[in-house]
Amino acid sequence: MKKLALHWKILIGMVLGIIFGYIMLQIDGGKGFISDWIKPFGSIFVKLLKLIAVPLILASLIKGISDLKDISKFKNIGIRTIGIYIMTTVIAISIGLVLVNVLQPGDGVSEETIAKLTTTYSENSSVKGKIAEATKQVESGPLQFLEDMVPDNAFKAMSNNGLMLQVIFFAIILGISMLLIGEKRAKPMKDIFDSLNDVVLKMVDLIMLFAPYAVFALLANVVVSSGDPDILIALAQYSGVVVLGLVLMVVFYTVLVGTFAKKNPFWFLKQISPAQLLAFSTSSSAATLPVTMERVEEHIGVDKEVSSFVLPVGATINMDGTSLYQAVAAVFIFQALGLDLTFGDQLTIVLTALLASIGSAAVPGAGMVMLVIVLESVELPPELLPIGLALIFAVDRPLDMCRTVINVTGDATVSMLVAKSVGKLGEPNIKNWDDHYDEVK
Ligand code: ASP
Repeated sequence: MKKLALHWKILIGMVLGIIFGYIMLQIDGGKGFISDWIKPFGSIFVKLLKLIAVPLILASLIKGISDLKDISKFKNIGIRTIGIYIMTTVIAISIGLVLVNVLQPGDGVSEETIAKLTTTYSENSSVKGKIAEATKQVESGPLQFLEDMVPDNAFKAMSNNGLMLQVIFFAIILGISMLLIGEKRAKPMKDIFDSLNDVVLKMVDLIMLFAPYAVFALLANVVVSSGDPDILIALAQYSGVVVLGLVLMVVFYTVLVGTFAKKNPFWFLKQISPAQLLAFSTSSSAATLPVTMERVEEHIGVDKEVSSFVLPVGATINMDGTSLYQAVAAVFIFQALGLDLTFGDQLTIVLTALLASIGSAAVPGAGMVMLVIVLESVELPPELLPIGLALIFAVDRPLDMCRTVINVTGDATVSMLVAKSVGKLGEPNIKNWDDHYDEVK
């Protein structure tokens, strides 16, 4: 095991977890065994990653901004980041819409399957919860998101995992203020955050030693919690379209990396793979963020000035995989229910899926909450909402795992593009990847 690269160790953990999950499914009491004795190790790992996310964002963003020396550079990075994020998301939605309209997965769903899915899931508490959560979001005013971004208590923002944008906001004004008071007076603060940043990155290394075992637990639990295999097969066409779209997004990223960042796309995929595997296992871009930051900064060579801003913001607002899924799911539901969508409706989907993906939290299942808003924007009758969600609910978790991989890969790609465009894409800091992890053993 010692000689294996980290991504191989994680991959082996995942495969063994899936096999173990299937074996336990066949055994009486196997499901209970996994939830009592295996699942907690996966949950502990996710908690550890979330634990370091806030100090890492804070330290890295404050250090990144206060290193800039010139505030206009920050504006430059900010504008490029948001611009490229919007562009990649619109492309993701367009890919999704073209595929779902050409391949028409909704037409292949039989009346019988629709009836079965509706009775099984439309009264499900999780489906109802998602609709209620989305309704709450819609009822808030148009500028609510701006208001939500500004914290009135920095400690409260840091103590709540859902308030990532507030932490980013606080770190940005703190970093800018440090820039403004001048290098000499800001030095003590800068040294503290500099050192905190290194310490937290080392914590990522330590936590990652546990990753292969944790993904085993996470995947074994996913397998025993997944639904009826017949239903999964009935929805194979829809899932296939989403996955095909996500694969095309990976191709698109590799083209961007090769053409604009001028790096070997396969090298990029190899370096980022531990973050992708964790995104798949945890279904959460927020939980994966510490690892994404570590991989991009140390193994790809993006300067902290760029990555410290681009990645936390991306984990919160840039969700290419989620937006593609929302576009495909919305059209699929209309097709399956035999309802028409005009060309204008499809344009509405582009806009609302863009906004909905920005508004989706970086946690498991969030994309489906915001899908409700996309469905409402194209006027799916309210009584059909639970039925619509029931149609796709059974495969939501596996698709969530896949779209989170794309969300994370998209953030890493954009960080390279922005870094390249401002001359901040260098060489990796770690020369021997495996030694880096072995060092701490
Ligand atoms: N789980 C996704 C993420 O964390 C969000 C979603 O699509 O549900 O990136």
